[in-house]
Parts: sequence; C-alpha cells; structure tokens
Amino acid sequence: MLFPFAEIHFALPLSRGYTYRVPESLDALAQIGCRALVPLGKRVATGFIVRRTDKIDFAPEKLRDILDVLDASPLFDESRLKLAEWIAGYYLCSLGEVLRTMLPPGLEKESHQYVKLRRAPSAEEMARLEIRAPRQAEIVRALMGKEGYKVRYLVKHLRYEGVRSSLQQLMTAELVEVSQQMQEANARAQKKFFVQITPAGKELLEKREGSKANGEWRMATGANEKINVRKLTAKQLEGLQLLARRGEMLRALFLKRSGLGGPSLQSLAQRELVQLVEREIERSPYFIFSNNQPAPVIKTEIPSIVLNAEQANAVQRTTGAVQQNRFEVFLLHGITGSGKTQVYIDAIRNTLAQDKDAMMLVPEIALTPQAVARFQANFGNLIAVLHSHMSTGERYDAWRRVHRGEARVVIGARSAVFAPVKNLGLIVVDEEHEGSYKQDKAPRYHARDVAVVRAKMSSAAILLGSATPSIESYTNAQRGRYTLLELPNRIDNVPLPAVRILDMIRWRQSAPDHEGIFSRILYEKIAEKLEKKEQIILLQNRRGFAPLIRCVSCGYVRLCDACSIAMTYHQRGNLLRCHYCNAYERAPDACPQCKGLDIIFKGIGTQKVEQALHELFPQARVVRMDLDTTRGKLAHDRILGEFGAHRYDILLGTQMIAKGLDFHKVTLVGVVSADTGLLRPDFRAGERTFQLLTQVAGRAGRRNLPGEVIIQTYSPEDVCMACAREHDFNKFYEYEVRQREALRFPPFSRLALVLFRHRDNERLRGVAQDFAALLKKTGGPFRVFGPTPSPLERIAHEFRWQVLIKNDMAKDPSAHQTRAILNRVVQFFHKANRNQRLRLSVDIDPVSMM
Ligand code: ADP
Ligand code: ZN
Repeated sequence: MLFPFAEIHFALPLSRGYTYRVPESLDALAQIGCRALVPLGKRVATGFIVRRTDKIDFAPEKLRDILDVLDASPLFDESRLKLAEWIAGYYLCSLGEVLRTMLPPGLEKESHQYVKLRRAPSAEEMARLEIRAPRQAEIVRALMGKEGYKVRYLVKHLRYEGVRSSLQQLMTAELVEVSQQMQEANARAQKKFFVQITPAGKELLEKREGSKANGEWRMATGANEKINVRKLTAKQLEGLQLLARRGEMLRALFLKRSGLGGPSLQSLAQRELVQLVEREIERSPYFIFSNNQPAPVIKTEIPSIVLNAEQANAVQRTTGAVQQNRFEVFLLHGITGSGKTQVYIDAIRNTLAQDKDAMMLVPEIALTPQAVARFQANFGNLIAVLHSHMSTGERYDAWRRVHRGEARVVIGARSAVFAPVKNLGLIVVDEEHEGSYKQDKAPRYHARDVAVVRAKMSSAAILLGSATPSIESYTNAQRGRYTLLELPNRIDNVPLPAVRILDMIRWRQSAPDHEGIFSRILYEKIAEKLEKKEQIILLQNRRGFAPLIRCVSCGYVRLCDACSIAMTYHQRGNLLRCHYCNAYERAPDACPQCKGLDIIFKGIGTQKVEQALHELFPQARVVRMDLDTTRGKLAHDRILGEFGAHRYDILLGTQMIAKGLDFHKVTLVGVVSADTGLLRPDFRAGERTFQLLTQVAGRAGRRNLPGEVIIQTYSPEDVCMACAREHDFNKFYEYEVRQREALRFPPFSRLALVLFRHRDNERLRGVAQDFAALLKKTGGPFRVFGPTPSPLERIAHEFRWQVLIKNDMAKDPSAHQTRAILNRVVQFFHKANRNQRLRLSVDIDPVSMM
C-alpha cells in the first residue's frame, strides 16, 4: 500500500499542487510520474502525480477522487522530477507548466466547457435582448447557425470582461446550454496491419499439385489422407508466393504488389493461409522503415578522419570526465571550420562505449537533414531526433523510443534537453551562445543553463561549443568554473577569409544607382564571382521589402493600429505587414494624411535586395531564404539542398543563412547592412552583431577556394566591425566584458524582467508603478529600474510596461534571495489584481530586453 493521497500538479500558471484521494482500484497504478485524470472545478483535467502522501491540506470530506490514471508506467523518473522542481523554482513558474513542457506535445486529455443554443430565439425575443442586454445578444448571434463553441474560445474572442456572467444569464433564460466534453489526446501510436504467411500457407506452396482447370488453380494440401481441395485464384497463389519470398509485408503494400483486393486477402486469411497482425510503426522524417527495419533517408559516408592534436585533446578531456562520472563543464571555443562537430561525434562515441547515453542540443535552424545524416552515419538507429518542426506523431514516436531506452543518442532543439535519457553521461550544446535556446513563453527557461543543471544532477560531463562563445560562458571559463578547450585553426589550415569593412557613407556615391543597397566594390565582386561560376551568400538581416513607408510631403509613417510599430512593406501582394501581430493591409497609393503621392520606401529588406539583384544581374539565379519563404515544413532544407547543388548562384537571406552551412563553392559573403541589429535597445546588441558577422563570414572559402567577405556598414568604427574583420574573438571579449562590468550587466549581475500588459495604458502604468514601489520597499539585495514603457510599447492592442531588476552581486551572488523576494511580490500582485485581465510575466535571465 502506498500513501492514500496524491499530490497533483496542473499545467496552469500560478498553480500549486492539489491533493486527491486515490481510490483502491487505482492504488497500484497511481505511481509518481504518471498522469491522472481528475475533476478540477467544473471540468476534468489531466494532472501530474508528483507525490504520494498521507497529509492533506483540507478537510477529508472535501477531498475528491482520482478518476483514472493515464500512463501504464511513469513518464518521469525521480531525476527529471527533481530537474522540473529546480526549473519551477528558478524561473518562477508552476511545476505543472514545467512538467507539461518536458513532455512531447499532444498528450493532454481534457474536458472543455462547450456552449450551444438550446433553441432559436424568436424575432421579438432577439430585439428585446439587443436593447436590454446587447452583450448577451452578441453571444446569441455568434452561436446562431453554429454547432457551438468552446467557452474558452468565446471568452477569448469576444474580448470583454463578463462573458461568463452573460452566459450564466442566458443559461437561466434557457437559451443556451453549457456541457462538458472530453477531448482525446492528439498523439497516439500509429498502428498498421502486416500480412504474414502461415505454416499452412507455406506447406500449401510446397506440396501443391496444382492443375489449371476451369480457369482456376485446384490443388491439394496436407500430406495426409484427407485431401482438401481448395480453390485459389492465380493472383492469390502469386500473392502467397510473394509473401513466402518477403516473409512479411505491410498490408497496403501487399495489396498493391499482389494486385489482390481486400476480400481476396480476407478469404486467404479465413483459410488460415495468411494471418494479419497489427503492429506499431514508427513515424520519422529521418528514417525509412521497411518492415520495421530503419534505414536513414539520406545516406552519407563516414570519412576516415584522424583528429588533430587539439581535437584529440578535447575528446580525451571530455571522455575522462564521462568515465569518472564527474560533472564538469567544458567550453569548446573553436573557430568556424575547426572541426568541432567531429569532436562531438568522437566524444559521443566514447560515451556510448562506456555504456552511457548522450544528448546533443543544436539550434533548431541548424538541425538540417544533412546534419542529422552525419550523426546517423556514425550511430545508426541509436539516434532519436526531437524538434518542433516534426509532426506531433513523429515527436511522440521518437520520444517513446528514448523512453524505452532504444535510442541512446538524442539530438534535438531546445526542448530536447528534457528527453527521458536514462543513463546520461554527456550533454553537448552546439552554438551555446544562441539566443534561441531561451524559450519566450512560460516556462522561460534557457536550455543551455538547464543542460548544465541537468548534467550536474546526473554527474555527467557537458560540452558547450561555439566559434563565438557567449560573454557569460567565456567569463565562467576565465574564472575557472568551466574548462576551456580551444581549436584555434581551421582543418587543413584553410585560411580564414579576408574581411573588408566598407563605410557606406564614403562608398555610396560611387555605387550604381540603387538607393545605397550595393557599394561599387560589392557590386563588382558579385559580378566577378558570377563570371567565375562561384557561389555567393548575401546577408540582410531584415525580411520584407522595406521596414517602413514614409510620405515625403508630410512625414506620415504607417504604424500598425494594434502595435504602434512601423509596418513593413512586402512587395508580394503590395501589402503592409506588422511583423509583431501579423496584421496586414493593402499599401496605400497616396498618403492617408495629406493625400500626397510621393511615398518612399525607407530601409532595406531582403525582398528589396532581391529586386535589386534581379535588375543588376538579370542572368544570376537568386534564392531568398527568410521567414516568408520557409513557412512550409521542409522549405528550409529544400532551399539549402538546391543551393548546395549549385542550382542557384546567390543565396540571399536573414540570419537563418548564417548557421553551420558548409558549401565549398561559396567564395564571397556580402553583408548588405551590418547595422540592422546594432541599434536595438539591448545590452547584447553588440555581442549579437559580432556573432552574426563572424558566423556568416565563416561561410566563405571553406575548402580550397579562398574566401572573401565584404561588410557594408554606416558604423565602420564600431568595435564589432573591427573585431569581425580581424577574426578576433578575444579582443571583442575584452572590450565587451569591460562595458558589461561598467554598466553592471551580466555576468556582473543577474537580471529579471517583469512585463506588464493591459489594454488600458493609464491603469497599466499605475499598476507597474505600484509594483516597482513595493519591490523597492522590501529593501532586498537588488536594484529596481523603471517602470518604463517596453521598447515594443504596444503589441496586438495591449500596452506594455516593464520593470528591470538587477541583483547586487556582493550581497546576493546567486540571486537566490532576489528571486525569492520577487516571487513573493509577484504572487501578492496576482492576488490583488485578480480578474482585472492584467497580465504580468517574469523573465529570469532574459535574453531579449523587449
Ligand atoms: P565545425 O563544426 O567546427 O564547423 P566540422 O567538424 O564540421 O567543423 O569540420 C569541418 C569539415 O572538416 C568537415 O567536413 C569534417 O568532416 C572535416 N574534418 C573535421 N575534423 C577533421 C580532421 N581531423 N581531419 C580531416 N578533416 C576533418
Ligand atoms: Zn501589429
């Protein structure tokens, strides 16, 4: 007998655990780490069993029963539950939210309140309602002619307070009814039928003495006395022979190959010559399964590689820690093309050889089929891939293969850090500096930092790799907390490309007349490379055509109504789009303010560069890669594949093109405008620019052709530019770290950003001020900045204010007290402002300051 009660956590913000009674029938099933179906308020919800206990937090007669247990065995072991508790505590979010995030999507089984009309109201009734209670009338109108809506959906879309009380009144008037409906989980195993030949079927083939009579096969089966004549058509016989050769086939494939119809197969099965078995088949974009035997979709050869001395040292140091079950953080600083990936592969191989499992995190965008194929070639079916561009079913299947212990190397994006890897020996985090490791909704965790904590809890080694380590990680290495490993040379000593910084103020005049997109030098270089049939990568880190349109006569700029942010002009469809809320409208022909006709497009987006390329180099084959051209599931991989096959001369795109691409014919990289990110109101703007320029420059001249890089900028004096030109990370680090120290930014402080959102700006400002004042009054070991309007002041009709908190490193070095006090104030505020539709979110260690 376990304890009689269970503590259950729900994936809801601000929610603590609740206690339920475990009925005797479920006692053995209701294990810690399983999901349970329980009543919650008026509905039924899925929660996580986190503890079995004999203590209850309120009167036993109020206690409700668990209705069902959803998992046959726990989804979480003790170590991952411990990790979840750490995350909830550190990032100030609910344990249930964290547990939900740790699982693949689509597992929730939930009930919803569902509302529909009971009867159609009469015309007078409706007229009366319109006058007396227009809001109720609005609900009735929304429901008319519809099957009904989820209440939650209605509340969200009618966008006013009190939808629920209006519904209550409509229920009393017996006009609508609200019911509970159960929604099944989305993710389910995919099962398929396979056809197998039975021993009787085999015997029949062996012993057959067939003769063709009356157009059909007559034959005798059974070696014995009782001669059993069965009629089989020629096709059925061929089908049996096919199965005898193949052993077993997918039902659908069998029908197609044999030309048999369903009924013919059925009759074979009835005579017990074949049997149908249902089995789960795994869905994967990376493997082809024929009869459950996996083969990689892309086959690659493993090159025979002898590690150079630095690589060998890095592998050896990492392997040493794995062998000794020692938590140690290694920072692998290797310039682009220095062979970091090969170090990961060898370190993982050594980990498997120790009978331990490994995990590798990669930014989503760099997780191309080619990158996966390289690992498949080395580790075959031991690999499981997890990222959010896979379908729900594919993720579910891959996750369960890890859970069953069949996959022992997990490769994935951010959330793969939670994969149920059993005996963790090594975690690799590639491109550890990448901001995309931070999740931008609750729980706002940073996958690299969670990986470090997970490694520590598992006594595992962790290898963080980058050509441009984050200032935080490099400082940790400087302070001796991380072990620095360096790969200072490119493989085969391929020289780093020569980088030129072009001052656009000086060079613009001499450019061909293209609104300052290309300097003459970049223009001539492109022409030269095209002539030589070499390839070119062009970076412009801003999508669309032009970031804003402005009327020359009156200065009018079109801002998004919902967001107060300049709308971006997109040439396709002649549209203005808001990049924050996705609103769009037709671009005006005349200024809406002064009716003037002189509207200019300010700034440069990728579409504008594309148009200029078409005009200047009509013969060049250009492919553009940005958010707008990569919405399809595999669009991204297709573009890269075709560029790799030299079906295009120029690859033009946003930062997406900077990651890990290895194209040996690329000899020129051009940065159209290096300044797009520099002006952001963010203390990491310089770091991000340096990283991006270094990454993209690393794409030039990867093999035997020498590479060149041309960076156009209006801030040629900026340190980022000079350091990118000299490929000098250390110089950049020294400069940047002094700035951070002077301004007390990380790693010289820890930050928390509290964001407030509401439709009423005045009310919001007041609330944010009260919050800041309260926080200051606690006298905690931190400083409070603001409230200030967020740099993105208004998004989708909501105003945004923010408060920044910086801890005092001398008094509270781990920011433990700071977070505890902040948490109390946040909880207090939520209670005080309940039902006000005021939204508050806390971002611990923010990577974006907006
Ligand atoms: P990075 O990850 O640092 O950009 P990679 O590991 O992808 O570098 O290596 C770049 C190229 O060099 C790859 O094609 C890889 O196969 C090759 N390579 C890596 N290490 C060696 C080595 N020691 N000897 C020869 N080739 C190597
Ligand atoms: Zn908008």
